[in-house]
Amino acid sequence: MIGAMRPVIIAANWKMNTTPADAGDLARAIAGRTREPDVVRVICPPYVCLAAVRDAVAGEGIGVGAQNVHQELAGAHTGEVSAPMLAGLATWVILGHSERRRDAGESDALVGRKLGRAVEAGLRPILCVGEQLAEREAGQAVAVVERQLAGALAGHDPATLLAAGLVIAYEPVWAIGTGRNASGADAAAMAEAIRAALRASGWGTGADDVPILYGGSCTSANIAEFLAEPSIDGALVGGASLKPDEMAGMVGRAAITAAARRAAGA
Ligand code: PEP
Repeated sequence: MIGAMRPVIIAANWKMNTTPADAGDLARAIAGRTREPDVVRVICPPYVCLAAVRDAVAGEGIGVGAQNVHQELAGAHTGEVSAPMLAGLATWVILGHSERRRDAGESDALVGRKLGRAVEAGLRPILCVGEQLAEREAGQAVAVVERQLAGALAGHDPATLLAAGLVIAYEPVWAIGTGRNASGADAAAMAEAIRAALRASGWGTGADDVPILYGGSCTSANIAEFLAEPSIDGALVGGASLKPDEMAGMVGRAAITAAARRAAGA
């Protein structure tokens, strides 16, 4: 299968921004500016804003996601949130974001356990992978991402993850929040390496069904470079996703790619 059959996804990661008092207004503003039926839109606010965003975008066809989930179901884990607790609040979840790997020391194996919990709870996972700058400069970008994937996906049945709608976000750490984005060609090469790694680990042609997003200083000004690549299926967006104008520009450009894919697949 070629990229023509995969959905085009723009996922907003609001990180530790917004409050329950203002998240609904922002989500409503984004919803009103991004009504493109062929683009899958997702907003991932902080946990405490999930209900406000859910209510604000009701009926808009926008997915609501959490930014993390705990690897246990319940118990003595003060300050944590488990996957079943998100029932009714979120249908997506970001896992293994580099800021959690950095701030909370999340390992590949831990991300894999979270992935299992997310899937059990019926959450659609966005699994983040990506190399540090020094690793890229040392020519290790592909090896790092292969290691992250192997660690997180170990023990998971590809068919189960495909049924859960697994999305992978390639997010080079040096591009996140820095204003320095990867090139479209480099991101596409990494997306192809990710699918090759999946194929080599028993996914077969299922690797071609997994949407791969680019993330890292993505904006309305540079998103076309990524969406022009057939192997890239959208973006996971941080800073720019807090601006309705930016979201409108990115989703608008994504709609062009989605329409082209639909025409190519027709
Ligand atoms: C992210 O948080 O996943 C991200 C890509 O951030 P930014 O767009 O700000 O680089």
